[in-house]
Order: sequence, then structure tokens, then C-alpha cells
Amino acid sequence: MSFDWITTAERIKKLPAYPFARLDELKTKAREQGLDLIDLGMGNPDGATPEPVVEAAVKALRNPANHGYPPFEGTASFRRAITTWYHRRYGVDLDSDSEALPLLGSKEGLGHLALAYINPGDVVLVPSPSYPVHFRGPVIAGGSIHNLILKPENDWLIDLASIPDEVAERAKILYFNYPSNPTAATAPREFFEEIVAFARKYEILLVHDLCYAELAFDGYQPTSLLEIPGAKDIGVEFHTMSKTYNMAGWRVGFVVGNRHVIQGLRTLKTNLDYGIFAALQAAAETALQLPDTYLYEVQQRYMTRRDFLIRGLGDLGWKIPATKATMYLWVPCPLDMTSTDFALNVLQQTGVVVTPGNAFGQGGEGYVRVSLIADCDRLGEALHRFKQAGIRYEHQLISSSQ
Ligand SMILES: *Cc1c(COP(=O)(O)O)cnc(C)c1O
Repeated sequence: MSFDWITTAERIKKLPAYPFARLDELKTKAREQGLDLIDLGMGNPDGATPEPVVEAAVKALRNPANHGYPPFEGTASFRRAITTWYHRRYGVDLDSDSEALPLLGSKEGLGHLALAYINPGDVVLVPSPSYPVHFRGPVIAGGSIHNLILKPENDWLIDLASIPDEVAERAKILYFNYPSNPTAATAPREFFEEIVAFARKYEILLVHDLCYAELAFDGYQPTSLLEIPGAKDIGVEFHTMSKTYNMAGWRVGFVVGNRHVIQGLRTLKTNLDYGIFAALQAAAETALQLPDTYLYEVQQRYMTRRDFLIRGLGDLGWKIPATKATMYLWVPCPLDMTSTDFALNVLQQTGVVVTPGNAFGQGGEGYVRVSLIADCDRLGEALHRFKQAGIRYEHQLISSSQ
């Protein structure tokens, strides 16, 4: 029997088309042909979860007290570990009962926050490019997205002054993310002060995604939204264990900030999920207590790869400034190629997978995202293949065509 009498809900139909279809097809084909793919397309850290965290999980797994449904709101002990960590990093006190909530990965919380707070037609301000759930969550909730196009001449920062007054007046939520995926841009503390003032003036809920809180380099320390006086009145911030601790598969994240907003999200989640397996919360707690020497190691690993790839791409004509954070390089496409064409071209000619920038919204057109998720040997092999295939950046031609 055919199923064409069952149609998906409008909220699914309204989602922007999945931009990777053709790329995925080619990836599968290349794999079938036994091609040695170098996949720098995903945001999936390649390292192992730290040993003490795995050990804590094994121990907690053997404790039957952890085998039942976990508490909806997360274990008290993990919530306390979150607020203790937060205080250690940022010097800000949070109440572990009402101002911190564990999540099944931050993506889950970012998406569900939209469902908890957006009514059909509500205006949501979302940077473009941005991490997909920042706009897909609001679209699923029926929100009306107002794109804030990010530009290289503004160092990929949101230009708050360019938001028309009538749009700001109507906006209910603003999602943002620095250090940024995909652009790797960072925002100075003054930017955070400005965005808090903006949100307070227009009564907008600020949703900051600080996924790369600790993947920062050369001594740079990213700003947390809640460090800014008054931010807790109007904002929440999402964190994840996935990137810093190589725990992407464990699905553990958390949100901190305004208690009313967190209460709304908790109410929605109570009706949809049971939270995180308690054994994994015990492990995540251990991760947050790891000594800073662990962070130093992770940061060194990404810095080495960053420097290696920036130098290698430099030899091929790209001038990419050293990134201060994240595990990405945001690389302009040569010769005014579209990001999809360039990504497909690179894959076909070299077997290297990069992500077309338009996957992150129209503001990402003209760029590709390259993830630093392979060691320098593999990155070197990727560069070697680029060289052989004649893939380079002809900035001369691009500037003369403008
Ligand atoms: C990877 C990533 C996430 C997802 O984190 P999970 O906790 O694994 O769901 C969220 N936001 C940004 C910006 C990311 O890059």
C-alpha cells in the first residue's frame, strides 16, 4: 500500500531543503569505489573521550541506582557540577536548581527552546550563516525568521545598527554564537555588552550558544553572555560536552541563565523526554572537573592543525588569518564559485570533503567550512591532493571582477 495519503505536517514542509543531498550521494559513491575519502565536512571531533570520564561512566553503569528513569531536571549532582564549573570559569554565581538544566546535547535544547517560546508568526532574529538548529528550530516552531546577514568586513559580527527599528520592536528571540560555527569568528566583550543593551531595550530574549567555550587558542578566553551585568534578566546560554571533551556521541549538554526561560524549556521537556541516562551525567560531571592540563592538550592539538592547514592553504593562494577559537577554518571559494560547486569540485577531484557555506544559510554563500578533525598527516595529504588537482585561490581574479 502506498503512503501518499499520509503527508508530513506543514512545519516539516517549511524546512529549508537539505543542502547536502548531492554531496552525500557523491560521498557514498566515492566510498563504494574504494576511494580514500578525507572527511573534513563534519563538526565531529576525532579524538577519544578522556579516560577518567570513560572510567566514571563504567563505574556509574555498574550502579543499579542509575538504571531507572533519571530525574526530569537532571541529577542534582551534575547540576551542581555545572554551576561550580561555571563559577570557576566566569566568576558568576548560578543557582543549580533553577538556573542550570542538563540537556540531551545542546542541539536538543536549542531546538526545543524554540518550541517552548515561539508562537507561529513570531519574529526571530538569526544570523546567517549560523549553526542550522538556530534557524531550523524556529522554523519548526512556526516562527518568522529575520536573517541577520554576517559580512567579512564586519569580522562576521552581527551589525546591530543595521536591524530596522520596526523589526527589533517585533522580534521575540535572537539566537547567536561566538566563537562561531561556521565562521570561527570571535566577539569582543564590548559586542556582548552592546547586544545585551540591545536586547534589554527591545525586550528580546537572547539565546547564546557557547559551544566552543574552551576550544580557544593563544590564551584567548571567550566571553560568556552571563558575565555581562543584566544579561541574566534577558538571556540563556547553551553549552555542550561534545566538543571540548570529545563526547559528541554521549549526547550531554546544558543550558544556564534566566530561571523563567529555563522553567519554560523544562516544562516542555518534561512532556517529551526523561533527560539523560544518570550514568552519563556522572561521567559528564567528571569531565567538568578535569584539570586544566586536559584543556591545554586539546587546545594544542587544534592549534597545531590550524597552523598547519593555514600555512598549507597559504601556499595555495589563500590568506586565512589565524583563528582564535573553534575547530573550523572558513575558507573563501576561488573564482566566484558557489559554495556547492566548489565543495563538489573538491570532492570529485581530491576525495576531500568540505561543507558548502550555504548549508548554514544564504549568508554562507561563497565560503566552505573545513573542520580540523584529522591529524596533520591527513591534512597534509589533503593539501597534497589540492596541489595535484590545481585547486587554489586566485584572489587576483576575484578582486578584479568586483
Ligand atoms: C556542535 C555544535 C552544537 C551541538 O552540540 P551538541 O551538544 O552535540 O548537540 C551546538 N552548537 C554549535 C554551534 C555547534 O557547533
